[in-house]
Amino acid sequence: MERAEPEMTVIIPVYNEEVHIYRSLRHIEEELERLTASYEIIVIDDGSRDGTWEQLILSGQRSPRLTALRLSRNFGKELALCAGLEHASGRAVIIMDSDLQHPPMLLPEMVRLWREEGKEIVECVKQDRGKESLDKAVGSALFYSILNHLSGFDLRGASDFKLLDRKVVQAWREMPERNTFFRGMTAWLGFNRAQISFEVPERADGHSQWSFLGLMKLAVNAVVAFSSIPLRFVSLFGIVFLLGAAVLGVQTLYQKIVGNAVTGFTTVILLLLIIGSVIMISLGIIGEYIASIYNEVKGRPRYLVSQRIFSEISAGASED
Ligand code: UDP
Ligand code: MG
Repeated sequence: MERAEPEMTVIIPVYNEEVHIYRSLRHIEEELERLTASYEIIVIDDGSRDGTWEQLILSGQRSPRLTALRLSRNFGKELALCAGLEHASGRAVIIMDSDLQHPPMLLPEMVRLWREEGKEIVECVKQDRGKESLDKAVGSALFYSILNHLSGFDLRGASDFKLLDRKVVQAWREMPERNTFFRGMTAWLGFNRAQISFEVPERADGHSQWSFLGLMKLAVNAVVAFSSIPLRFVSLFGIVFLLGAAVLGVQTLYQKIVGNAVTGFTTVILLLLIIGSVIMISLGIIGEYIASIYNEVKGRPRYLVSQRIFSEISAGASED
């Protein structure tokens, strides 16, 4: 029986990827075989509704190094990653997508930087974003420019394709929040880091599972998790409108004194509309933060595992 503690753990979140997951895993494994004799792969099935789990069972029969966790429903990629990080036991942990858009051929360089240069975080940065629809490209450019300003971290081109030393994983586990944004949290952690840039290849097969709404949710969660500046905007709006109100108030009083008070009707309607919408937006922003506090306070588990496939390595570990 092998040691319970592999040199490397590879974490792969999957959601509805039945078409190519078996092949992709084999491909990733072949690359790993060349790098180390001691690794484990943890695949997190994020509540797939197609035959992904069956494909993982097949993959598990082929490969003794595969562990798979099936989440009880779709919790989203961020939480699937959490599940992986909490179960990883390797001295280095590599996070990658299942669709080969995070090219396995970068693994040797990532591992070299960790092994030989002692880098504790190796991040792969997207040089160009590959083939993407225009709305997604524009949306993500906008999102990152806002997030960079608000959070103070440069996250342009950031991807989840990373190698983390065990120390970093340990530090990450000490961040108790439920609203996780992996890319941002690893930036916050610091540590000795290196970057490799890569071009995003086309998806192996199937199509991206992100919906527009899903991405919006990710964006709002990321901003709320990383910055409270939007709350300050609310106060700023208030001050700006107070100044406006003072000027208009003086003008209205003047009109009253001069004797043509009724003409202000348009102004009144406009002001009502504008102030109304600013109040709504402000309440919405505050609401997002309250919702986020509420979620943290509830203290529910971040995800639930409904089924597992154990690798021989982790089966050995659980017997210890
Ligand atoms: N994924 C997941 N849960 C989700 C959506 C996606 O685990 O709710 C996985 C997906 O299977 C893939 C990775 O996250 O391995 C990246 O997803 P995708 O390729 O759809 O996103 P993109 O490459 O467009 O960022
Ligand atoms: Mg992809």
